[in-house]
Amino acid sequence: MATKPLVVAHRGYWKTDGSAQNSIRAIAKADSVKCFGSEFDVWITADGVVVVNHDPSINGVVIETSDAEQVLAQTLANGEHVPTLEAYLQEAVKHPGLHLVCELKPHTSNYRETLAIDEILRLMKEYNLENRVDYITFSKNGFSKLIKKAPEGTAVYYLNGDYVPEQIRFMKGAGIDYSIGAMRNHPEWIRQCHDLGLKVNVWTVNKTEDMQWCIDNGVDFITTNEPEKLQHLLEDSK
Ligand code: MG
Repeated sequence: MATKPLVVAHRGYWKTDGSAQNSIRAIAKADSVKCFGSEFDVWITADGVVVVNHDPSINGVVIETSDAEQVLAQTLANGEHVPTLEAYLQEAVKHPGLHLVCELKPHTSNYRETLAIDEILRLMKEYNLENRVDYITFSKNGFSKLIKKAPEGTAVYYLNGDYVPEQIRFMKGAGIDYSIGAMRNHPEWIRQCHDLGLKVNVWTVNKTEDMQWCIDNGVDFITTNEPEKLQHLLEDSK
């Protein structure tokens, strides 16, 4: 294999002591084991603060309809409070070797997704991280808006598995970031993407056999909850 996949920690490296999904600690942990990238999920609160969390609500507090004060009071499994995107980026700045993979979650309206995108892009610029971040999203609206609004050359990947590579190319996306199930059903998409100059990321690849399949088939990035396991497999497949 000419190239080896790069390792992206899914929601940061959280399956390790003192960490938690989408916690600030999880970025530091991803860097500590030398992941290529660290993925995280973002939402915008009712009062316009972008926060890092996977689910639309936390402890019953619905992020999109609650003010930041209430959302940020909630705690993660490791005792940290829900981080703002700004706090997350302040930590990312301390880890200059780490790439960021920012997932815009599908919001309740296109309007709110646009508010989120504008605020995300503003913060990335403020923290001088524009060259260190890729965007991913399940939202068709979010995908096309991110491509339109992010600085030229920013990589935006689509997650939902229902655009073929030619469609991604037509929309000026950087590539596909599809589930391992979708990719196993359509292994031809890997070659098609590469022929079109697109990259292929696969999520969330935790089983050894799936990791090996991705390595053998030449995908560009693997997103996993088990970054150290994947790194060991990559070392063994030299
Ligand atoms: Mg995610």
